[in-house]
Amino acid sequence: MQFVDEAVIEVTAGDGGNGLVSFRREAKVPLGGPDGGEGGRGGDVVVVADERTVTLLDHRYRRFYKADSGAKGGGNNRSGRAAEDLVIPLPLGTVVTDAATGEVIADLTEGGQRVVVAKGGRGGKGNAHFVTPTRQAPRIAQEGEKGEARTLELSLKLVADVALVGLPNAGKSTFIRAVSKSQAKVGDYPFTTLVPNLGVVRVDESTFVIADIPGLIEGASEGRGLGDRFLKHVERTRVLVHLVSLSPEAMDPMKAWETVTAELEAHSPELARRPQIVVLSKLDLVEDRYEIELWREAFRHKGVEVHAVSALTQENLTPLLRLIARYLVAVTPEAGDGDQGWSPV
Ligand code: GDP
Ligand code: MG
Repeated sequence: MQFVDEAVIEVTAGDGGNGLVSFRREAKVPLGGPDGGEGGRGGDVVVVADERTVTLLDHRYRRFYKADSGAKGGGNNRSGRAAEDLVIPLPLGTVVTDAATGEVIADLTEGGQRVVVAKGGRGGKGNAHFVTPTRQAPRIAQEGEKGEARTLELSLKLVADVALVGLPNAGKSTFIRAVSKSQAKVGDYPFTTLVPNLGVVRVDESTFVIADIPGLIEGASEGRGLGDRFLKHVERTRVLVHLVSLSPEAMDPMKAWETVTAELEAHSPELARRPQIVVLSKLDLVEDRYEIELWREAFRHKGVEVHAVSALTQENLTPLLRLIARYLVAVTPEAGDGDQGWSPV
């Protein structure tokens, strides 16, 4: 599955510092020679591919970036201090386009890759620079050059490695919130019902993207079409995690599993053959843990290993995430399915 995360930001590099008009002060000489120094360079705005950044979300809330200006020139021919560059970390895979021209300025494909997206202004020359044989005491100096300003379109393809399926109320959204390190951010995401809920999971050294597929089994009232549309996307994911609720109020777990499995098979036999991890959710609602063993046995009868977890108490969540990470390593991406986003390391 894949969808595009987008943001627009305005970047302005720092202005160069102004050159200085200054004259040496010497004993007995009322007005010494010109010694005004050059202004410092303005800071560049630089984007850098940062493996720890995973979405463009921050840039929806912060739109303007301005690097510092260079310091003005000093007396005694001292140059002003150059400003530091302003560094904007962006996720790997981000494409940066100049909004005005459509030109691609940066395609961040490797960790640590740096691209200057707005150049800082040069410092202005000080008056010492303007001395000529006929003008020994110039009172002019140059202004610093303006920093470059640009509007940038950021675009990032997110590829979900793991699709979460299950009946409504199986606990999919809660599960994603519980396992996703970017919980707050995902919660803030302006998702519509048409956009799958997405979480970025980090466990040990692995990072993967998990997406909740709403509308798969919602029935006619919710519109099958929606489910179908998502199924197309699900087909690109490498592992299915199938949540089945253990809540006493929910459908019998075996029946629930069969219902969803049949639905998957009807829509896409190929999809139904994806490696699938069956997870019994809401473990905390089960008073008698022996019941779990019975379900485990019943599923084993069908050749399915199950894992029981609680998103609420977090019980067994980490071992499950490690298992998913191992599956992702074991499952080779399909040939031709080029854009793999984050794969486990
Ligand atoms: P979805 O429809 O599959 O996305 O399911 P939700 O995540 O919206 O969960 C449905 C209901 O089950 C909500 O009221 C959740 O609070 C509840 N729920 C989800 N996970 C757990 C859990 O691990 N334990 C308990 N006790 N309730 C849960
Ligand atoms: Mg949900």
